[in-house]
Amino acid sequence: MSQASLIDGKDFAARLRARVATQAADLTARTGIVPGLAVVLVGDDPASAVYVRNKERALDSAGMHSLDHRLPATTEQATLLALIDRLNQDPAVHGILVQLPLPRHIDTATVLAAIAPEKDADGFHVTNAGLLAVGRPGVVPCTPLGCLMLLRDVLGRDLAGRRALVIGRSTIVGRPMAQLLLNADCTVTMAHSRTRDLAETCRQADILIAAVGRPEMVRGDWIKPGAVVIDVGMNRLPPACGETGGGRLVGDVHFAEALEVAGAVTPVPGGVGPMTIACLLVNTLAAACRRVGLPVPVEAVP
Ligand code: NDP
Repeated sequence: MSQASLIDGKDFAARLRARVATQAADLTARTGIVPGLAVVLVGDDPASAVYVRNKERALDSAGMHSLDHRLPATTEQATLLALIDRLNQDPAVHGILVQLPLPRHIDTATVLAAIAPEKDADGFHVTNAGLLAVGRPGVVPCTPLGCLMLLRDVLGRDLAGRRALVIGRSTIVGRPMAQLLLNADCTVTMAHSRTRDLAETCRQADILIAAVGRPEMVRGDWIKPGAVVIDVGMNRLPPACGETGGGRLVGDVHFAEALEVAGAVTPVPGGVGPMTIACLLVNTLAAACRRVGLPVPVEAVP
């Protein structure tokens, strides 16, 4: 059997970032506005610090402002809410991103709900989740938006009638992913930890999205021959004998086995990950365009 083609998210994301940079420069030339994203990091989780740094670099290279707010892990919820209120009022801030997870004493839902929906760069506000659920324009969460772009790059824009399975039902990946696919007229199944006979359900899917957080859970014999497989999972394995630092980064799909069966598959790393940051730039630019009444970039409209 022939090998699956590789879906190169890194390359796609680089081209997307270049397009966004051009559009941002155009917006600045026409209006004097530089799109700005406020990035709020509470605490000193090392992984979050790396994500935030990568986001800031990406904004910078796209000609956008990154407005950095680092708060200690002991920050009171009221202090964080007061900062968000100030950012909501600040005209230089077009998007707000609060890096998750937040320290345990802070209620994530309350914080996300405090962000003005039009500045919600991550698309996690219930207003934006509701708009997506009823198929109306809003801010779409970055990771599922990136997955949809990759799917359309492989399968073409029209996904109507395809059988899609999303494994995982989190509010940041699984649920919005399923909504996007439904809005694109796929026949969508959602699976989760209570799903019975997941392997058999997977074998029905023309499109398989894995967003679980379990290393290499989806095996080759779960995949329908020719299916398009998008692996959202990012799992760090324990270091192998003799390895220093962290172990290998793997997805939720057994990549080598998937290559033998699928039609196309995303690698980890280099698949969905780079798309998430590129889509954050898309959402920030879109928020700045909306503010001045200009059309949003086509990429922000799934
Ligand atoms: P969550 O932990 O919030 O959700 C995981 C989902 O997987 C839950 O819905 C859970 O079901 C389901 N699940 C857990 N075990 C099983 C199982 N054995 N069988 C079927 N379903 C199962 O994770 P996230 O959605 O936040 O992230 C998922 C993965 O994607 C992680 O690896 C994360 O690191 C990665 N990720 C990658 C991003 C990127 O940019 N590439 C961005 C965001 C996430 P239940 O609801 O029943 O508990």
